[in-house]
Amino acid sequence: KQEGRNAYRLYRCDIDVQARDHLTMETDLRNTVEHGDGLEMAYQPLVSRQTGALVSAEALLRWHHPTRGLISPDEFIPVAERSGLIIPLGERVLEMVLGQIRTWQDQGIQPVPVAINLSARQFWQEGFIDTVIAKLSHYKVAPSAISFELTESTLLNKQAQGIEILQRLRQLGCRIAIDDFGTGYSSLSYLQELPIDTLKIDRSFTRTLGGEKRGNGAIVAAVSGLARELDLCLVAEGVETQEQWDILGTYQVEMIQGFLTGHPMNSDDFTQRLMARPSK
Ligand code: C2E
Ligand code: CA
Ligand code: CA
Ligand code: CA
Repeated sequence: KQEGRNAYRLYRCDIDVQARDHLTMETDLRNTVEHGDGLEMAYQPLVSRQTGALVSAEALLRWHHPTRGLISPDEFIPVAERSGLIIPLGERVLEMVLGQIRTWQDQGIQPVPVAINLSARQFWQEGFIDTVIAKLSHYKVAPSAISFELTESTLLNKQAQGIEILQRLRQLGCRIAIDDFGTGYSSLSYLQELPIDTLKIDRSFTRTLGGEKRGNGAIVAAVSGLARELDLCLVAEGVETQEQWDILGTYQVEMIQGFLTGHPMNSDDFTQRLMARPSK
């Protein structure tokens, strides 16, 4: 019984530490968002599985913390979501990406479409689409130069309203992808109703391809059939090996994203990648 009490204390203590850490992180993040320094976008290539050509990029947020160094978005995005900071932070992301596309265009470098991750709170924020329209026009960037990635959980329970927002984004000319597909809750009939362009198969399914566990290929195969049936582009995330690449070919996956074909990289390195494309 004595031990039980101690264990309980320790546990409470851990929670306090965690809460304090989150609070500090929130304060630091608020400062960063207000002053705008320490934030940067990384760009990860998406390549065609058929030709290997660079066809698109995903923009991934990086935060250089003043004392802790680089912090993973998996750590600070949840803090931003809980605190509401994700709204101004998301706007900064949009500005950084559109600013980057503007720079490429000014330099005469033909960009590829860039995908931007959206948190549920951003997607459901009043005036989100107006913000997108205003920023596109400020940076003089065409809507077709960007796409948005959202997860299945974003649309959970609010399908009808969600479809409306998706439709407006697509009418603008932005493309939509469902991120981490297969890990969420979508029923297949609901997927049919969604005005989207792309499915991104979650890394957890790619990772085990070629491995021992039975059934992983079956999931990729099923999602592939679904994508073909619904006329959606299919992307495999987290592709790290040549073996995975080869197997994905047998499932008619169109696009590959992963360390095999490029890590997320800073804008200078990604610009090199853009310029290295054979000219048409
Ligand atoms: P995500 O949208 O699923 O992004 C893909 C993550 O997988 C990225 O992690 C990327 O670096 C990583 N990755 C890519 N290829 C591979 C691979 O071959 N192997 C492995 N092991 N990992 C790979 P990252 O950059 O740490 O981002 C983590 C998550 O943070 C993202 O997951 C996304 O949900 C969120 N995030 C990142 N940037 C933003 C942003 O600007 N806004 C919002 N709302 N969320 C963001
Ligand atoms: Ca994503
Ligand atoms: Ca993903
Ligand atoms: Ca993810």
